Amino acid sequence: MTTLFDQLERPLRDLRISVTDRCNFRCTYCMPKEVFGPAYQFLQRDDLLTYEEITRLARIFVAHGVEKIRLTGGEPLVRRDLPRLIEGLSVIPGLKDLTLTTNGSLLRRQAQALGEAGLKRITVSLDALDDAVFQRMNDVGVSVSQVLDGIEAAREAGLTPIKVNAVIERGVNDEGMVELARHFKGTGIILRFIEFMDVGNTNGWNLERVVPLREMAERIGRELPIEPAEANYRGEVAKRWRYLDGTGEVGFISSISQPFCGECTRARLSPEGELFTCLFAAHGHDFRSLLRNGSDDAGIAAFLKNVWRLREDRYSEIRGEATVGLERVEMSHIGG
Ligand code: SAM
Ligand code: SF4
Ligand code: SF4
Repeated sequence: MTTLFDQLERPLRDLRISVTDRCNFRCTYCMPKEVFGPAYQFLQRDDLLTYEEITRLARIFVAHGVEKIRLTGGEPLVRRDLPRLIEGLSVIPGLKDLTLTTNGSLLRRQAQALGEAGLKRITVSLDALDDAVFQRMNDVGVSVSQVLDGIEAAREAGLTPIKVNAVIERGVNDEGMVELARHFKGTGIILRFIEFMDVGNTNGWNLERVVPLREMAERIGRELPIEPAEANYRGEVAKRWRYLDGTGEVGFISSISQPFCGECTRARLSPEGELFTCLFAAHGHDFRSLLRNGSDDAGIAAFLKNVWRLREDRYSEIRGEATVGLERVEMSHIGG
């Protein structure tokens, strides 16, 4: 196994694979209906990497230092036959962790098959426990109970430890933070609050709608006392806090108020095979052409080495005047 380092000495360790740009939700902060409406042109089937192509790339990435793969989207569970991909990925020698992020709405039907195919654990997104708030955010009328039932199905299928992600937007769902924390406290499910990010170009982001980590922790801590805990490993994205009464922990993903670019070891593969070296990049590097023009593994590896070697992204650290108005890839295209 070779380890690749970028311009800032960051190794390549994680690969997020977006398997589709489609989704059955229209979260207002990610795929607002006004943009992702009936006329929106999603990728066509032939554009998508096949499962064989994804698996081949994943093998090459793992041989060059990737230890963890996360499947995402769009909504990964809307892509047909996903367990077949998981079967292929789960047997790659050297891969230490294989997980998936989902909105949870289709989990009840699929959790068992995902587990049997070799998925180890899962992250489910759930932004509120109040139906009116949640439905306003997902904008397609899916209920909280449907997602909670999906989480339960994941637990039954042994996809643990389960993590739950909640994006917090001021004036939209911040009043429900404590209720969410209370619901998952002591269950073994790890809740993580995410600062609303300026990903893509369509979600109407502005700084006033971000609730910074410090404020989130204070508001939760007032009701449910917490203290900061040490990171599990270098480069861990979520800042961990533990409940003082010993009933577990919550996490905060603070890419706005406390950026973590210096530790960023992630690459993201889009559904059509472009590799993005940053969540906020405007353009990717085309691996699909290599896969389809007969390149051998050594040729693809050489391309990867070059892309990673030249990487110098640190968008969140320089966010501000330098980044206003820059074009960016949509979150629903490359996943979180
Ligand atoms: N559809 C799946 C889901 O929602 O879990 C996977 C893809 S989604 C793009 C991955 C994660 O990104 C979700 O947890 C979602 O809440 C988060 N996300 C999307 N837009 C965001 C934004 N503007 N700021 C912060 N997180 C965001
Ligand atoms: Fe779909 Fe996930 Fe984006 Fe919501 S956050 S629109 S569920 S891709
Ligand atoms: Fe990594 Fe880019 Fe996010 Fe910084 S802004 S942590 S480089 S993905």
